[in-house]
Amino acid sequence: MWFCPPEMPGVVEGSSVPVADSFFRHRVFFWRPVGVWRYSVRCTKPDCPAKEDEKAFLYRCGYSSTVRPICDINGWYFMLTEVLACDACRKAAKVSQGHSISRYLSWEANILHQLAPGHRAVFPAVLTPRRGVDKAIIRLMRDRTEGNTMAKVWRQVQESHCEEYLQRKDLYTTLLIQYNQPGKVTRMFSGQFQKPPKMRKLPQPRLLRKAYLISEAENIEDYRTQIMSVFGKVLKYDSTRKVNILTVLTKCVITTIVLLLLIIIIITATHTQCRKAFI
Ligand SMILES: [Zn+2]
Repeated sequence: MWFCPPEMPGVVEGSSVPVADSFFRHRVFFWRPVGVWRYSVRCTKPDCPAKEDEKAFLYRCGYSSTVRPICDINGWYFMLTEVLACDACRKAAKVSQGHSISRYLSWEANILHQLAPGHRAVFPAVLTPRRGVDKAIIRLMRDRTEGNTMAKVWRQVQESHCEEYLQRKDLYTTLLIQYNQPGKVTRMFSGQFQKPPKMRKLPQPRLLRKAYLISEAENIEDYRTQIMSVFGKVLKYDSTRKVNILTVLTKCVITTIVLLLLIIIIITATHTQCRKAFI
């Protein structure tokens, strides 16, 4: 589902003028879980007439004209997707004014959540209302060690973007100089060269933070399972189904008191041994 542009030219071919566009192309990611993997996805509208019908699935209804720019670690790529529609909702909308035709873009959260975790992981970005952030940047933000702030991650990404852009611009300029060298036949044909495009502005740190929070919100269920797997034994001492908070708190308090007593005993013993040693 990735479409990569041809590599940047490294030499001047014949008398053809180097074109700036061939140095500043971006990748395109086309997300089509139904079209490519033949997924059966259901309509999520609460008043869908086919809500109870287990065999009613969304059908493909063309491609969306929306192009979503995604901020990657060293540049941008663009995302496209397919449009899905519900047949039952479409028929209901024809009959009554209360219903509307349900159309979904395949990158919407309610469609993504219907996919298997393995297929969902193939989706490379976290989308915000207008743009998106690649998961590679989100991973950088997960490291919450001291000094790893949102501003620091943003600076790192900006540096990588600038470096990549300048490298492309430098290669383009080098080829133009080769083309326009004194004494070369191609110099006679040289006219106005295409200007390199401006560097695409990096999103503000708050957009990265927003994407990070969206990503973490999706992981809440995993975190809950992890906590339950660690404390599960403690929580299930008294009841296997109902969590008795008071019992848990009492156990925590007793454990803390026992630990404190142990620490006091150890300190006292050490102190006594030291005194004996000095005497
Ligand atoms: Zn429907």
